[in-house]
Amino acid sequence: MIQTIRGFRDILPDEIQVWQRIEQEAKNIFENYGFKEIRLPILEKTEVFARGIGENTDIVEKEMFTFPDSKGKNQTMRPEATASIVRSYIQHKMYARDPEQKLYTIGPMFRKERPQKGRYRQFYQINAEVLGIDSPILDAQILVMLNLLFKRLEVKNLSTKINSLGCPLCRKTYNEALLSFIGNTENLCEDCERRKTKNPLRILDCKVESCRNQLEGAPLLKDYLCDECKIHFETLKNCLELENISYEIDDYLVRGLDYYTKTAFEIQTRELGAQSAVAGGGRYDGLIEILGGPKTPGIGFAIGFDRLVEIIAAKNGENNNIGPIVYFLAFGKKASEKAFKLCNELASKNIRAEMDFSDKSMKASMKKANKSNCRFCAIIGETEVEKGIISLKNMELGSQEEILEKDFISTMEKNI
Ligand code: ATP
Ligand code: MG
Repeated sequence: MIQTIRGFRDILPDEIQVWQRIEQEAKNIFENYGFKEIRLPILEKTEVFARGIGENTDIVEKEMFTFPDSKGKNQTMRPEATASIVRSYIQHKMYARDPEQKLYTIGPMFRKERPQKGRYRQFYQINAEVLGIDSPILDAQILVMLNLLFKRLEVKNLSTKINSLGCPLCRKTYNEALLSFIGNTENLCEDCERRKTKNPLRILDCKVESCRNQLEGAPLLKDYLCDECKIHFETLKNCLELENISYEIDDYLVRGLDYYTKTAFEIQTRELGAQSAVAGGGRYDGLIEILGGPKTPGIGFAIGFDRLVEIIAAKNGENNNIGPIVYFLAFGKKASEKAFKLCNELASKNIRAEMDFSDKSMKASMKKANKSNCRFCAIIGETEVEKGIISLKNMELGSQEEILEKDFISTMEKNI
């Protein structure tokens, strides 16, 4: 038996309803806020991510599926969407038409991580990004929009964590202070030792216990923000309060990517055990330039679609098997032709209809009708053909009536 690769999985028809519902709610809400959908390739030149996420991030250092093309140039299965969206914004000169773009995309991402519950090698994200606007009011609006989506999906027990990472200016002073604080420590993990020279801020994000302990009393970013960054963060907080969005300030929230500036946020759940982040995002005012575009601010987020599904599916355990409105049982050639045509006509009128294709006995066919979970069973046998009628059985009531063939479609239209 051939099976899926470790960390890759099928999403089966029994599970799909939750996925579809989330996708519809997300699209609906995002579009109400002026976002437009963009669809991007899964394979990109490696440099999109190496430059766009940062060489010294976990994703680029350890997690990417990268392989050479026939000429030996490296290409990568996208591990996230932001860098691709920005690549597209620049490639198609979207900024020339309108520098302000609100874009969303939904699709699979690929990371070579250790597979476990809530962590897959192919997983799905719902992404939304706004390019060209630097107002902190937008940052708040994005968080309000995310909160609205979770509310619609009835996801509770969430906490919104926010922090400000400052701009390159205030971050420079902060990095110096942080480095001098940890200057003499020798017990940092291997990753953090590297981070010291490459990206000190990421030391704050280290999950290793001994590193965390050593950070006790370390200088905090918030005390090093320049006036502009401070005002930006204050405005964000005020706007969240205006909308009664509860949030927690997390001084250690830096997020994995190199390019974040000012606002960083994460939405966590208490319902998933170890993998608690369901969405994360932030502002990246330097990224568009890094990828070769004009100086343009940006902000966005990614929702972990798989984890969101797990929270919602755990709550609504019921089987959502939606059956057809009409299930046709036909006996004999003439009857089958009639069922074939009526079935097509109903489906074309948006009435779910299916037919039994097996040429079996009434009893066996009736079993299939029951299993299909249909609302009505339409029976066409020899007698029905002769009389020009269809016997319609209401599966819930168990009652049966005869309907003139010519009135059948209109009767069904009235019945739903
Ligand atoms: P984590 O700390 O859980 O590794 P991350 O910071 O790497 O998350 P992001 O790059 O911010 O994650 O991606 C946004 C969201 O995508 C995460 O909050 C999470 O819900 C989801 N996600 C990330 N990696 C995976 C994965 N391997 N499998 C399933 N979902 C994932
Ligand atoms: Mg990760």
